[in-house]
Amino acid sequence: MPLDIPGATHLHSGKVRDLYEVDPSAGSGSGGLAGSGDRLLMVASDRISAFDFILTPGIPDKGEILTRMSLWWFDQLADLIPNHVVSTTVPERVRGRALIVEKLDMFPVECVARGYLTGSGLIDYEATGEVCGVPLPAGLVDGSRLPEPIFTPATKADLGDHDENVSFEQITETIGLETATALKELTLTIYARAEQIARERGIILADTKFEFGARADGTIVLADEVLTPDSSRFWPADSWQPGRSQASYDKQFVRNWLISPESGWDRHGDQQPPTLPAEIVEKTRARYVQAYEQLTGQTF
Ligand code: ATP
Ligand code: MG
Repeated sequence: MPLDIPGATHLHSGKVRDLYEVDPSAGSGSGGLAGSGDRLLMVASDRISAFDFILTPGIPDKGEILTRMSLWWFDQLADLIPNHVVSTTVPERVRGRALIVEKLDMFPVECVARGYLTGSGLIDYEATGEVCGVPLPAGLVDGSRLPEPIFTPATKADLGDHDENVSFEQITETIGLETATALKELTLTIYARAEQIARERGIILADTKFEFGARADGTIVLADEVLTPDSSRFWPADSWQPGRSQASYDKQFVRNWLISPESGWDRHGDQQPPTLPAEIVEKTRARYVQAYEQLTGQTF
């Protein structure tokens, strides 16, 4: 799966992205990798995952669309928090879908903000009336707007496992009260800004996940990818209607097709999902492009 990139050593592959360490000796001769031991090359592939499977084929341009979207958001948020982006100058074969980033000491918490109830939040709410220890009023349904946005942290699972929702108290045990409080406040502040920006463009930012890391001097920095359809739920505002699952700007076509009779796939069986038909691939790509263009006002 990892590419052979001169001046970079493969570190880690997630379902969608590949991470490389930039070799300290890599000079400008190696396709733009500035030599430094504290830099990472983060490459967004065109892979798409659904129901925790990596599907075939990938979605053309997805890596580039999501990389551009992330960069656009980092800019929108720059007055609120420093981000890990160092450079967009990367080797030719990953141009457009990779970034050079600061290597940070990552906090082991997926920092989720939710303004609307759905997904694992809805499941927890229906079972307990709470999400991550935050009590919510009775009577909420799939897609309900919450009285106010809430911080619902999760701990990162190993590849192939689901992330686990945890309470604020639980994360204080691993990162301490001071850091947990800082991450909660940052998460809610950034969500509020992003939610407003998306709303002005006719998009509901239902929820999103941030990852933060620390520099050697302790500064908290926004890392990973931000506010992409892979890390967030974006819903078209004009068709929002609580009480059902919402139309969304992400893998909806893929998920709907996979669970439809046409795919012939049993979600609860042990088979890999079938190859996506060209039409589903194209519709999914169009959806990512539309999300990018509607948010940023730029043409992809
Ligand atoms: P998946 O997302 O598929 O469940 P994953 O999170 O392990 O798995 P990726 O998201 O592709 O896979 O991997 C990116 C990894 O890089 C994550 O572990 C993330 O925490 C880490 N990361 C992101 N930004 C930085 C950074 N600036 N410094 C160090 N690590 C980072
Ligand atoms: Mg990840």
